[in-house]
Amino acid sequence: MTQSFQKLRALTGMKDILPDSSSQWEQLEETVRQWLASYGYRNMRTPVLEHTQLFARGIGEVTDIVEKEMYSFTDSLNGDKLTMRPEFTAGMVRAAIEHNLLYDRPHRVYAMGPVFRHERPQRGRYRQFHQIDVEALGLPGPDVDAELIVMLGRLWKILGLNDIRLEINSLGQAEERAAHREALVTYLEQHKHVLDEEGQRRMYSNPLRVLDTKNPAMQDMANNAPKLFEFLGEESLAHYRGVCDRLDDAGIAYTLNTRLVRGLDYYNLTVFEWVTDRLGAQGTVCGGGRYDGLIELLGGKSAPAVGFAIGVERLLDLCSQQDQAQSLPECQIYMIHQGDAAQRQASLLAEQLRDHGLRVLVHAGSAGFKSQFKRADNSGAAAAVILGENELSAKTASVKWLRAADLPAEQQQQSIAFDQLATELKARI
Ligand code: ATP
Ligand code: MG
Repeated sequence: MTQSFQKLRALTGMKDILPDSSSQWEQLEETVRQWLASYGYRNMRTPVLEHTQLFARGIGEVTDIVEKEMYSFTDSLNGDKLTMRPEFTAGMVRAAIEHNLLYDRPHRVYAMGPVFRHERPQRGRYRQFHQIDVEALGLPGPDVDAELIVMLGRLWKILGLNDIRLEINSLGQAEERAAHREALVTYLEQHKHVLDEEGQRRMYSNPLRVLDTKNPAMQDMANNAPKLFEFLGEESLAHYRGVCDRLDDAGIAYTLNTRLVRGLDYYNLTVFEWVTDRLGAQGTVCGGGRYDGLIELLGGKSAPAVGFAIGVERLLDLCSQQDQAQSLPECQIYMIHQGDAAQRQASLLAEQLRDHGLRVLVHAGSAGFKSQFKRADNSGAAAAVILGENELSAKTASVKWLRAADLPAEQQQQSIAFDQLATELKARI
């Protein structure tokens, strides 16, 4: 008796990246690695799972992420409370503290990979998504704050993107935020009637975040609220101007958005977002800023830090509006053969071609020439190399160029001696 199983599907909001689109991802990752290396950033990889406490402390208890978006569970083996990382920074800082990276010199590091947030899925908002996360640890700025932003400007240029604009703000220091908070709470109390449930709940625990609301009915209230920027003292303003001057030097345009507070609690001084109108409601491609208090908060010796995270799905969405993404063909050369001896010879020749850096697929199993040719064509290969009895005895391969219909017949088909095959093919690909 056969048992039938219900077809299993990926989890809601979690996407498969299939071979036809993965080359777009790989190309972006390669571009990003080179771009980051050109500014001295080195890769770092931290675990996907961390103690829940790391994020609760590092991101802040009263944030969307910690309140409602984390994938958390109890380890059934030992009762530990664990969370799938919802962002990189807390884990990166934990690792830097744990391995004493911060005591000798600053570190410029980056990570790429999946992060997890339990959100309502829609375009540009998934439950497993990917970030490119970049952190400069141990540097007080404002020079490095500006360098990070200039770096991003370069990445958009490399990728041919020009519809992204920069918004910046300064969140000042703790004392400035405390003074502003007092004024803000008074203001929110006066406008309690327009606050939604979340707003009322956060009014005292995280009033700044009340202004970050997406609720249209609260926009007027948020726009007219006391601005943190107006509470900044001379030092914070000097830091802000230090960033702006360097952006001016680099010819990077920006607007001051005094309502920009970012989702995470640990930011101070510089915060910024790169935003586009081309992605509908989910228009923030990259967000970042300074978080000088976080390292100490997580148990390290106090050290300044600044960083950003790019949302890869949103960035790729933007890139594919710009140019038609080409998927990478399965191979450059498809080897066709007839008979056992020819199959073995084809495998040997394929190894030689790979020694020369060619991407080669040897037809697996046996089939008629016609169906092998069809597979070769569908593979996207530039050429089929054909081995039959005649070719074996003459030690010569027949080569058919598959994408050369507009060339004269004699250039579409060639005979090439086995020992010349690699160099001849390489020369034409
Ligand atoms: P949003 O306001 O859109 O929720 P956020 O403030 O939560 O963003 P960050 O925590 O700063 O976002 O994450 C950095 C970047 O990651 C964002 O700018 C965005 O590009 C991307 N991002 C955030 N959440 C998601 C998601 N659920 N799906 C896809 N990309 C996301
Ligand atoms: Mg969010």
